[in-house]
Amino acid sequence: MAILSWSVTASGVGVVTLDVPGEAVNTFSHAQSGELWGCLEALGADPAVRAVVLRSGKRDSFIAGADINQFVAFPSAADAEASSRAGHAFIDRVEGFPKPIVVAIHGTCLGLGLELSLACDYRVASDHPKTQLGLPEIQLGILPGAGGCYRLPRQIGARAALDIILAGKSERAAKALKLGLVDEVVPESILVATAVAAALRLAGGDRVRAPSRGIQAALLDGNPLGRRLVYRAARAQVIKRTQGNYPAPLAAIDVIRTGLESGKEAGLAAEARAFGALAVTPESRALVGIFFATTALKKDDGVEPGTAHPREVAHLGVVGAGFMGAGIAGTAVTTAKVDVRMKDADLARVANGLRAAIEVPQGQLTRRRINRFEFERLAALISGGADYRGFARADLVIEAVFEDLAVKRTVVAELEAVLPAEAIVASNTSTIPIARIAEGARHPERILGMHFFSPVDRMPLLEVIPTSKTGPDAIATAVRFGRRLGKTVIVVADRPGFWVNRILAPYFVEAGHLVLEGTPIDVIDRVMVKYGFPVGPIALLDEVGVDVAAKGGVVMREAFGDRLAPAATIDRMVAAGRLGRKTGSGFYLYHEGHKTDPDPKVYDLFGVKPLAGADPGLVTRRLIFPLLNEAARAFGEGVVRSARDGDIGAIFGIGFPPFRGGPLRTIDGIGAAVVVATLEELARVHGERFAPCDALRVRASTGERYYPAT
Ligand code: NAD
Repeated sequence: MAILSWSVTASGVGVVTLDVPGEAVNTFSHAQSGELWGCLEALGADPAVRAVVLRSGKRDSFIAGADINQFVAFPSAADAEASSRAGHAFIDRVEGFPKPIVVAIHGTCLGLGLELSLACDYRVASDHPKTQLGLPEIQLGILPGAGGCYRLPRQIGARAALDIILAGKSERAAKALKLGLVDEVVPESILVATAVAAALRLAGGDRVRAPSRGIQAALLDGNPLGRRLVYRAARAQVIKRTQGNYPAPLAAIDVIRTGLESGKEAGLAAEARAFGALAVTPESRALVGIFFATTALKKDDGVEPGTAHPREVAHLGVVGAGFMGAGIAGTAVTTAKVDVRMKDADLARVANGLRAAIEVPQGQLTRRRINRFEFERLAALISGGADYRGFARADLVIEAVFEDLAVKRTVVAELEAVLPAEAIVASNTSTIPIARIAEGARHPERILGMHFFSPVDRMPLLEVIPTSKTGPDAIATAVRFGRRLGKTVIVVADRPGFWVNRILAPYFVEAGHLVLEGTPIDVIDRVMVKYGFPVGPIALLDEVGVDVAAKGGVVMREAFGDRLAPAATIDRMVAAGRLGRKTGSGFYLYHEGHKTDPDPKVYDLFGVKPLAGADPGLVTRRLIFPLLNEAARAFGEGVVRSARDGDIGAIFGIGFPPFRGGPLRTIDGIGAAVVVATLEELARVHGERFAPCDALRVRASTGERYYPAT
């Protein structure tokens, strides 16, 4: 199938339009490179053609990158390396093309798209916010493998290139211009005309001016000694950020260095070799798995396709203008740009809620994601009152009132009296079964859970919880609206703790036991950061609120027995008024709201002395294996629909290390039999709460996996 077409202007510029049929964005594969080369050869041979412009036929995508399906298909490092070498050969041919090539970039220009652009003679970008240039490969556990590690530093300097490649980030056009990544930025309406004019200038013998990068860049980037400092700083930063858990950024630093210090041939050879080795690492397989999972979830409404008529939410009601209600309202106006009406018990609380909600778009304004005009428009979308005025228009209402069954039931009854037919009611409860909230409702088919995480505007996950009575329309409406809020949405069963808090429970329980035994708080947190979590469990307890964890703990013990009974640590902390960050005292000390060191008084509270010489391996096993065990158990109970959803929930909900791919993938990696044996050993020494669940035992004996072996 043809992916491109071309025409020649009267002035002699061949304008090539790339448009992969049947896809929303252009991705590029090696098969397609043959077609592009064929076209270039034809234009090269045509004496009427003086220069070439390459553009995209897609709305907001130049080239979004290489086709990621390619990566998973590599059976070996050698195959992946060969593919990188083939990419080099193609890009080299483009670079050596005898006539000038100008790229006209509008929309995403990522990965292979940018690598191709870097080999062309001149880059013009549209000033549209959708125009983004970057090399995101690191996020998939690999590195730019079509010359990006070699060409980007030569184009914009070592420091700026490391900044982009190591974070896998993309830049808007204005920043790209400043960096020297593009040569011109113009409005989209004149993009192609500008590119054609540039092509004619180059054909007429004009030279492209090299961008000037300032004194500091010249000192650091411009000589080998300065660059040595740059590489060293980059390495230290990567180790600090990743704890050495991710091989790709470290490999990228070496490859970039080889390219800059030893020349093109050595640089490209190092790049292909590293690309090959990284493509088959378990880290890359896990990260690519996450990419596919989130992509699939974007198309998954949580019901059988074709069985639901989701409602378009234009008016959202939020009952309870407290911490969560305000976060939901603020996120809804900022991200989904819908009209939001808040309701609380009195006007003072409503006013507080409105103020807190507006902090979300305010944050966007401060970070210059939106301008003042847009901010005013978004802020005007939120209103509120102490009654249900305005709720007669609501398509969806999310309640975030006190965590009290009677209060929640009253709210449901009040809502049913004022809402239009078909409106959906969602509860943000974290511990009350949704079915109990829906008991006695006139329309239980329109009631479900939408469990947000705090802070709502920053946490990427949403759990949607149908009951046995919830209808498919309500599920699909909630899932789609969650996506409009920018969330990754998983549909989970109405079981205590749902998915995320269920698997988090034993992790918190064990952290509590470890502290009671005198394991130093900083050791506990440090080993989990080393394992790959963004923060450790004790810091997380302080963040969530020790009282909140205590309440959750009671529910989990009631539902699941002593296995998930919180350690005495938690109640004693609550009794001492040490509730975490919000009270300025918890397991850690706080200075002006900022966490500092573990508070030594905490050990006195439990009558222990911090132990010297705690075994980090044992601490890790005691924290992680119960989490794996609970994930296997809850999966066996059908709390999540698939291993994919379970792993995504753990990664986005509790920060389970992405490079491990989630708890279920981790079990596959270790092997269920080894997980069972480890849990049995822990149970022998530390108590029955570690006993492996039946679901794991079955897997250990049958060898069944959560994912097919790769
Ligand atoms: P909060 O105390 O900050 O807010 C609750 C608000 O509800 C208060 O402003 C209160 O005045 C209002 N309210 C109570 N009864 C009401 C009624 N009948 N009508 C209208 N407003 C009423 O509590 P929160 O932390 O925002 O939690 C709200 C809900 O979200 C709870 O169900 C909680 O379990 C859940 N949740 C909380 C978190 C969290 O981290 N705080 C996370 C996920 C879910």
